[in-house]
Amino acid sequence: MAKSKKVLTQFEQYEKNVRQRDGLRITNKPLVQIPFKILNPAWEDYIPLNPKTGTPIVTAMLGKVTRKGEVINLSYLEKSNLMGDGDSNAKTKKNDRYTLVLYLTPASKSGANFCEMASPGCIWSCLSQAGRGFFANVQQARLLKSYVVQDFELFFLQQLQKQIIAASKSSKRNKFKNKNEVAIRLNGTSDLPFLEMMNKAGLLDAIPNNVRFYDYTKFPNKAGVRKINKFDYVVTYSRCEDYFDRIAGKWVDNLNNALQNLEKGNTVAVVFVGNKLPNFWFGYQVIDGDERDDLMLDIPRIKGRGIVLGLKAKIPKGVGLMEWVAKSKDFIVECDSFDDCRSTGLLTIGK
Ligand code: SF4
Repeated sequence: MAKSKKVLTQFEQYEKNVRQRDGLRITNKPLVQIPFKILNPAWEDYIPLNPKTGTPIVTAMLGKVTRKGEVINLSYLEKSNLMGDGDSNAKTKKNDRYTLVLYLTPASKSGANFCEMASPGCIWSCLSQAGRGFFANVQQARLLKSYVVQDFELFFLQQLQKQIIAASKSSKRNKFKNKNEVAIRLNGTSDLPFLEMMNKAGLLDAIPNNVRFYDYTKFPNKAGVRKINKFDYVVTYSRCEDYFDRIAGKWVDNLNNALQNLEKGNTVAVVFVGNKLPNFWFGYQVIDGDERDDLMLDIPRIKGRGIVLGLKAKIPKGVGLMEWVAKSKDFIVECDSFDDCRSTGLLTIGK
């Protein structure tokens, strides 16, 4: 009689995939290598390299992985928080609602492109390196999650669903001004269609109605308020420089996309260098987007009267203003009120 083929559990399949992909085996040593290609040299600063081979290594995170014999067992992901508590982030902790944010590795850092419409300037200035993202172990944790998204999408989405449901019932909500709602931002440092993916997998029905989803995007057609399942998904378009998309072989006119979104009544985020924000940008009202991260959930949409979420440029510690302006000039496209910045001649003066 033919031997019946063992049906692998999702975890076993994942482990098998990883081992096959990377020739990965765990020994008693904590050091595990996951080879991947660095597509953006800027990442080299904080991904440790194996001194012998020069290959990037992921160490601390996998060192915590529960092991079964010599096989990686990623089941600990079932228990760990995929999303960060908004309380640990300077901006989200000012939110009116209890907030959870999912941080992955942006752009092509994990080998797959998580931000298809990212511009060269926004990749350089990406806030993924700000705050806690500065630390190598935080980056490693995000990288591992990014691998799981790629290799084991359904498992990842199921964990997200569980954690969103738990958050919707959490007593932590009571500390916030809006005690009834919970805000979820799934693209803290990525630009993926998570809500569509969860909906396709049938995972949105069980999520309670008190959950509000919001995000920023570089996709012009993703911005606005879109009904996905029973949720109004609120998405703000992000201004960056116009740039040539080498994959699509065409220019991306970000300014035009931003103005079209404003005309439709959507919100657009614009980064300004300076100590105070202008009142208007291209005739549209600018409000302080740094006030709180979930502000976009409370802005009414009126056709022809879109609102600009003005964000003040965050200059990393230890970087001089002029150096930073010079390197970020392609991204920080608006300079309104900072004379030093204007005098560099590097930036467009605010309109
Ligand atoms: S699209 Fe957003 S998350 Fe992606 S690289 Fe640009 S700024 Fe970072």
